[in-house]
Amino acid sequence: MKKIYLDNNATTRMREEVLEAMLPYYKDIYGNASSVHEFGRQARRAVDDARSKVAALIGAASPEEIIFTSGGTESDNFAIKGIAHTLKSKGGRIITSTIEHHAVLNTCKFLEKEGYQVSYVGVDKDGIIKFDELKSAITDKTILISIMYANNEMGTIEPIEEIGDIAKAKGVLFHTDAVQAVGKMPFEVSKSNIDLLSLSGHKFYGPKGVGVLYLKKKTKITPLLHGGHHEMNKRAGTENVAGIVGLGKAAELAKKEIVEEAAYLKGLRDYLYKGISGAIPHTKLNGHPEKRLPNTLNVSFQYLEGESIILSLDMEGVSVSTGSACTSGSLEPSHVLTAMGVEPVDSQGSIRFSLGRDNTKEDMDYCLKVLPPIIKRLRDMSPLYEKGK
Ligand SMILES: *Cc1c(COP(=O)(O)O)cnc(C)c1O
Repeated sequence: MKKIYLDNNATTRMREEVLEAMLPYYKDIYGNASSVHEFGRQARRAVDDARSKVAALIGAASPEEIIFTSGGTESDNFAIKGIAHTLKSKGGRIITSTIEHHAVLNTCKFLEKEGYQVSYVGVDKDGIIKFDELKSAITDKTILISIMYANNEMGTIEPIEEIGDIAKAKGVLFHTDAVQAVGKMPFEVSKSNIDLLSLSGHKFYGPKGVGVLYLKKKTKITPLLHGGHHEMNKRAGTENVAGIVGLGKAAELAKKEIVEEAAYLKGLRDYLYKGISGAIPHTKLNGHPEKRLPNTLNVSFQYLEGESIILSLDMEGVSVSTGSACTSGSLEPSHVLTAMGVEPVDSQGSIRFSLGRDNTKEDMDYCLKVLPPIIKRLRDMSPLYEKGK
């Protein structure tokens, strides 16, 4: 049976070149990057080389602004708790949005229990932050704004530059969860007013369990992990050298190929959507029509349950998901689509197709062959459809 992976926003297949780059660090170059002898120095050079490559990918002013972590979740926790603890005396107010990843949302909920006040700014029907809400949420006690670069469920890209400008004008630090944006679109972190940024290796063809917190020079932060003097005294723990090398390699490749790959994926994605909307009635596109990640397509198949579409597609060898990997298993509608005002009849049948560099036009054609009969069969069985159509 064909196997077609269309869930690249959940994770990606590690590239062959990345694995090749990592292998020596699991075999012969096993030194601790903090050791002063040759084994250690070799590992240290590899870590520093990866640091430069990540800095180059995101356009950081200096490699010292790159702190390696265990992934996007840790980077989000580190950024938000770290700034909250550092600036507690200045005021306990944090601003985030209603469509964040749970790594941000649940960190903020945790801080609320510790006594911080969090404002959750809403979004419009396309998933773009409401500026008036954002501006009026800022007070002289606000210490941090955390708003994602691009959403994992429907791909909308937020106006990060403008948000950064607002934060800077008010003297508030700005963190962005850029886990879905890094490696998918070119950007220069030092050209926007971004103080902290999270990224994760496995979302752009690197290894799982390794990520980065970008921390603008001179920004003070309280560590999440205490211990040795690793990562410029900001993140204790022996470095995951092989993982860091893999992340560096993925960054190097992304920097070279990003523009071409984005155009390729956008072409495939738009072809897929055209096919779907042409062949299947009662569908709706979720997310911004243009300001959207090039690989992401979120479609509502009205009157259906997303889970049953996923299972039926899975039996045909096509892997997709409803919104986020973290909410599947719960039957609650996606918090992101709900925040965008998508009605339950639409959000329950929403499917995310997230494409990756291995996908081909043949994959899209196969998907377009198997999907319409699945939707028809499920709708024929759906009491909702009988009532609604
Ligand atoms: C995947 C993801 C994360 C979590 O990253 P991990 O490396 O899997 O911990 C955080 N934010 C967004 C937007 C994501 O898509």
